[in-house]
Amino acid sequence: MLDSLSTSLKDALKKIAGKTVIDRAAVDELVRSLQRALLQADVNVKLVMNLSQSIKQRSLEEEPPKGMGVREHVLRIVYQELVALMGGAGKVDLAPQTILMAGLQGSGKTTTTGKLARYFKRKGLKVGVICADTFRPGAYKQLSTLCAKVDVPIFGNPEEKDALLIVREGMKRFEATEVVIIDTQGRHALEDELIEEIVNINEIAQPDHRWLVIDAALGQQAAEQAKRFNEAIGIDGVLITKMDGTAKGGGALSAVSETKSGIVFIGAGETIDDLERFDPDGFISRLLG
Ligand code: GDP
Repeated sequence: MLDSLSTSLKDALKKIAGKTVIDRAAVDELVRSLQRALLQADVNVKLVMNLSQSIKQRSLEEEPPKGMGVREHVLRIVYQELVALMGGAGKVDLAPQTILMAGLQGSGKTTTTGKLARYFKRKGLKVGVICADTFRPGAYKQLSTLCAKVDVPIFGNPEEKDALLIVREGMKRFEATEVVIIDTQGRHALEDELIEEIVNINEIAQPDHRWLVIDAALGQQAAEQAKRFNEAIGIDGVLITKMDGTAKGGGALSAVSETKSGIVFIGAGETIDDLERFDPDGFISRLLG
């Protein structure tokens, strides 16, 4: 997604690069190209319209700061408005904490739990992982393999069907551990049992963070999941996975920024290293870079 969006955004900005006069017509042309680029990447239409309006209004009304040419001024506005479009970044503490992972099956929850275990371990924190996914056969084995790779202890029991019991015992086991990450079950759809279980796990574990894992390929549908999980347990950070595999990642990015929780990390590959902290400023700089 990022390559194609980056190319089309840069092309849009070239529209004003060669112009000596930046008048209303030039701004309109720039905005039209930006709209095309963002809509192609599946960014939410309403957000694109708001951004267009702001860029037009600010470009024509705001005076450039002293010493800044009109073109640079307009480019700066475009940059600021794109950063605002992404919403704020979610908070990541490098401190003792419990993180509850939520999401549908196949979203990349287990893989991302392994990536996060490595992330916090590399920051010098003592990490433990609880496998509370008692629904999907093979979940414990998959997570154990990932944890072994990053040398982080795992607590779970593939024979046990009661996820709440596992969480209760796991929290005791990891009492002296600094960062505890709880991987939970997923389903193919937002079923009531799924929501009910995560609500109960949330009560037992009393996590500091409740992070939602969303597949970038979902596009605009990401908003529905974010909304549902948010109502259930209060999501305070979103991880978007598989940004490497879709040209439509703008849908998930913008749908999530419409809910109140920010993006904490982005997954862009299958290996345990492919996890990036999300920083809207850096993200946009790189797209336009
Ligand atoms: P879960 O059911 O939510 O726990 O999903 P998994 O962690 O088992 O991931 C489902 C599939 O998505 C696996 O094949 C992962 O390798 C793959 N996957 C997860 N994250 C990423 C990512 O960021 N990029 C790519 N390309 N694949 C991913």
